[in-house]
Amino acid sequence: MLSLPTDHNWNTLIKLHDKTFKPYLKEEQILAAIDKMAQEIAKDYKDEVPLFVGVLNGAFMFVSDFLKAYQHPCEVSFVRLSSYQGLTSTGIVETLLDVSEELEGKSVIILEDVVDTGRTLKQLVHLFSNTNAKEFKIGALFYKSEIYNGEYAIDYVGLEIPDDFIVGYGLDYNEQGRNLREVYQLNKADMINLVLFGKPGAGKGTQAGFLKEKYDLKHISTGDVFRYNIKNGTDLGKLAKSYIDKGDLVPDEVTIDMLKAEVEKNPDAAGFIFDGFPRTEAQAEALDNFLESKDMKVNATIALEAEDDILVARLLERGKSSGRSDDQDESKIRNRFDEYNEKTAPLKAYYDKQGKFHSVNGIGEIDEITKRLSEVIDSL
Ligand code: AMP
Repeated sequence: MLSLPTDHNWNTLIKLHDKTFKPYLKEEQILAAIDKMAQEIAKDYKDEVPLFVGVLNGAFMFVSDFLKAYQHPCEVSFVRLSSYQGLTSTGIVETLLDVSEELEGKSVIILEDVVDTGRTLKQLVHLFSNTNAKEFKIGALFYKSEIYNGEYAIDYVGLEIPDDFIVGYGLDYNEQGRNLREVYQLNKADMINLVLFGKPGAGKGTQAGFLKEKYDLKHISTGDVFRYNIKNGTDLGKLAKSYIDKGDLVPDEVTIDMLKAEVEKNPDAAGFIFDGFPRTEAQAEALDNFLESKDMKVNATIALEAEDDILVARLLERGKSSGRSDDQDESKIRNRFDEYNEKTAPLKAYYDKQGKFHSVNGIGEIDEITKRLSEVIDSL
């Protein structure tokens, strides 16, 4: 006897490979969006015979349900493109199958399961621009408008969704999850987001290097991002340089926007280590608000503690090989400490109030300090 699946499992998390996903869109929500899309397209094309081109693999379920909802003469074909590897868009779009149909005089409507950055779409438009189709339109079941930066308008949209990694209803995570009837979202509740806190020279960067490997986290050092921009002569680099050279903090607005962009580049991260951010109360508040908007949070702030004289000696030593101008001059180093004492140290109270502040002795062997930090993380 056949028994139809019910939604008994709707509230449960599912696991695919190493990640968990939580329910996001029910089957009926998806089908309602598709039905609406089909009616909209029918209004524009019912007097001709359009060719729908589904983009494999992700769109197979969508195209199937779409065609059932599109009750007018039409043709269907598929192309296969691929740009995802793991959870992030690699930017490599490969055409695996061309449309062989005669397109002369036909209206072609591409059916994409999800449009995000628009790279795949660009490839598709390129594919069809060399044909003699009468007209070329794009329909996307899911549209991540926040991150779309393509130049083509999306003509028909099923649902606008935020920039979260989704699986199910044809979409996969490393090929699994396509057979789910509903759409699931990467579960961020099991993310670990750490703020590494401490004066310049406390060893945040060194320790972040070990912790990111051990806990599979993405390390974001605002100082490193600024230095990268300075090296590459970007506008951001030019702006930041004058502040950094003096040992002053770069203005909050600039730093906060940069931090957000770095987080958004990594939708698949199992968690982040924020190194050198936040450094002011405004940054801490901005970080909390930003993470909350993404269903994320700071799990712990861990301070590496060491005395000023030891830090000065460490920084001057580092300055000999790093080439960092702000590490080579004791008065600049002291200015960085003053900035820290005045603007950053008050964050201890900010995180203490949230019950998230942890202090670790930053003096000792490097691996001993990693162990101390790991104990805090493992206790979370
Ligand atoms: P660091 O490598 O973390 O010591 O940072 C080097 C310099 O970059 C600092 O002295 C600041 O001028 C700038 N910087 C890094 N992070 C921030 C931040 N969160 N806010 C403002 N300025 C920052």
